[in-house]
Amino acid sequence: MRSVFLSLALTSLLPVIAIAAPKNIIYMIGDGMGPSYVAAYRYYQHQPDQTKVANTVFDDLLTGMASTYPDDDTLVTDSAAGATALATGVKSYNGAISVNRQHIPIGTMMQLAKRLGKTNGIVASSQVNHATPASFLAHSNSRRNMNDIADMYLDYRIDGKPVADLIIGGGSKYFARQDRNLIEGFSALGYQYTDNFLQLDSITRLPALALLSEDALPAALNSEVVNMLATLTDKALQLLSGADNGFVLMIEGSQIDWCGHDNDIACAMAEMHDFAQAIQVARAYVDANPDTLLIITADHETGGLSLGANGVYQWRTEVIRKVKATGRAIAQQLRKLENQQDISKRFTELTGLSLNKAQLHLLLTALKNEDEKIGLGQIVQFISEASLTGWTSGGHTAADVPVMAYGKNASEFNGFMDNTAIAKKLIQYIQQTQPH
Ligand SMILES: [Zn+2]
Repeated sequence: MRSVFLSLALTSLLPVIAIAAPKNIIYMIGDGMGPSYVAAYRYYQHQPDQTKVANTVFDDLLTGMASTYPDDDTLVTDSAAGATALATGVKSYNGAISVNRQHIPIGTMMQLAKRLGKTNGIVASSQVNHATPASFLAHSNSRRNMNDIADMYLDYRIDGKPVADLIIGGGSKYFARQDRNLIEGFSALGYQYTDNFLQLDSITRLPALALLSEDALPAALNSEVVNMLATLTDKALQLLSGADNGFVLMIEGSQIDWCGHDNDIACAMAEMHDFAQAIQVARAYVDANPDTLLIITADHETGGLSLGANGVYQWRTEVIRKVKATGRAIAQQLRKLENQQDISKRFTELTGLSLNKAQLHLLLTALKNEDEKIGLGQIVQFISEASLTGWTSGGHTAADVPVMAYGKNASEFNGFMDNTAIAKKLIQYIQQTQPH
């Protein structure tokens, strides 16, 4: 009795050991980036003249795996429920933007960070009010309420200020609307603004907003700009690095998922490369600023990607490397051509594949279909067949996703975890922010 009492008393005298929290958090989400995307990127990068397959930045930073199931009648999450879990530590239904099943808003880590005097940034290659970034900044019963979500970026205030100090990505059409001009609203609050990637230098301080296209940013495989996400990441880190109380920066490689939905492997590899270059920038920042934690994960897997198909023991990356545009862009170009020979020739120029008579017939029939997805589907099917890339779905799957961590407290993210555990740990760190 006495000893129990004594040990209890002793315990109460022990100082509470707080986990030393990183000052800055860089949270990178590869939308749709299941484990086979990481493996695919490694082999895609591998040069046949090298004997050994080299690690990628993803391999170097890998620490664990996470489950992604939502609070819904399915194991397969969408990006909204996935991002809600990653932003709040709470699971919800598919379509939810940081609200629970009763439609009650769930506080996000960026709202908490703002309340505690930290600085927040968002970078996305999709529209900035798309599901993943939205779940960090807003609340909505449905991800489809894109205008409401954009409104909330300006209207949801903490101590009179919007939650995000920096927003970079696409989607200007949701911010400059007939019924409301949110860009003017942000400008009135002192936000610097640009809509032009080439004028990114005109953003010199926070707060700032850069909406670089009407909708999403161009797909990496079609873009004239090389390493766009890395450039935007570098810019964001330059702007945020002066934050007295540290920052939370979320960077989304948004379009990996869209390539997965299209079952377009060349598109997916280009997006993975774009994301990898951005991770290199973030990793270098952590090296120079050890008080920073870099976390990388995905919200779910898309497409049921497999490397090898149809019983053949090969995955032909050399086929994928020759593809010069996304299936969507190829379909668009081919649809403009009248002559069969021109279509066949252009297809070969853009994909490196030559079509036999039967294949050309299939392609011509598909391109004539009113449903543009049929033409796209036929093009990516040729590429998948030639490269022996397998897909099981045009949607998401319940496959676990990789977790990578680097920098301060990276070892806290080892082994298997649920996606909510990642957010809970980050929230715990943010809670330790000392008022400035
Ligand atoms: Zn998706």
